[in-house]
Amino acid sequence: MHTVIRVEKLSKTFHHNRALHAVDLTVEQGEMVALLGPSGSGKSTLLRHLSGLTTGDNIPESRVELLGNTVQRAGRLARDIRKSRAQTGCIFQQFNLVNRLTVLENVLIGALGSTPFWRTCLRWFSHAQKQRALQALTRVGMAHFASQRVSTLSGGQQQRVAIARALMQQAKIILADEPIASLDPESARIVMEILRDINQKDGITVVVTLHQVDYALRYCERIVALRQGQLFFDGASHAFDNDRFDHLYRSINRVD
Ligand code: ADP
Ligand code: MG
Repeated sequence: MHTVIRVEKLSKTFHHNRALHAVDLTVEQGEMVALLGPSGSGKSTLLRHLSGLTTGDNIPESRVELLGNTVQRAGRLARDIRKSRAQTGCIFQQFNLVNRLTVLENVLIGALGSTPFWRTCLRWFSHAQKQRALQALTRVGMAHFASQRVSTLSGGQQQRVAIARALMQQAKIILADEPIASLDPESARIVMEILRDINQKDGITVVVTLHQVDYALRYCERIVALRQGQLFFDGASHAFDNDRFDHLYRSINRVD
């Protein structure tokens, strides 16, 4: 096993509001980890640090590494994070697809990395690349929607396209922030099953934030739970004390 995500002493303060406090986390290749916690506990902030979208407080020992590459250190973004970004697929609650484009085109974007010229590039895709995009869509059960515009799809279908794009990108890690939060139970089940399938068959490491404990218990072997920016549980799902979490969840919601 080798470590694909390493977070050490990561803190993040927004105007005196401590969103993350001295978070240490390592994730090994091939794990499927649920990041749990009530609203405002720091789940999204942690994921944004992993994908290099934001930097933590300036603490000398703090660092984030992905696939052996430094993403940030002591609150400063590494000079070149393109490599780790290219190998990381991000899926969000609000579907981050391009509505005007077709399903196939959205998946093809996955092959481009982060070029700002994707509009031009779309015309130049080879037959082989299109075949690969179709295979990725087949994998998530969306091949027959290939030529349809994204705007015509349901939320669950859009999440499946976003997963296909990550497959096209040959992502080694998928970071999914509340991918099922706005889905009905049946669509949520399908999306979680696809994530588990690519985790198990392709060995893609998945970190998924969830606020429903039952999905975490059902689909992830490991749970990392946050409470007001600090880890309060990190271990096997079967060792997770649901009652304690429930109690905490309710007490925090009451304070809110
Ligand atoms: P979660 O995803 O678990 O609901 P977040 O990571 O979104 O939690 O937020 C953690 C804390 O950080 C919250 O108190 C939130 O208000 C605060 N926060 C998050 N992003 C920002 C921001 N861009 N500016 C100011 N405060 C923020
Ligand atoms: Mg969030």
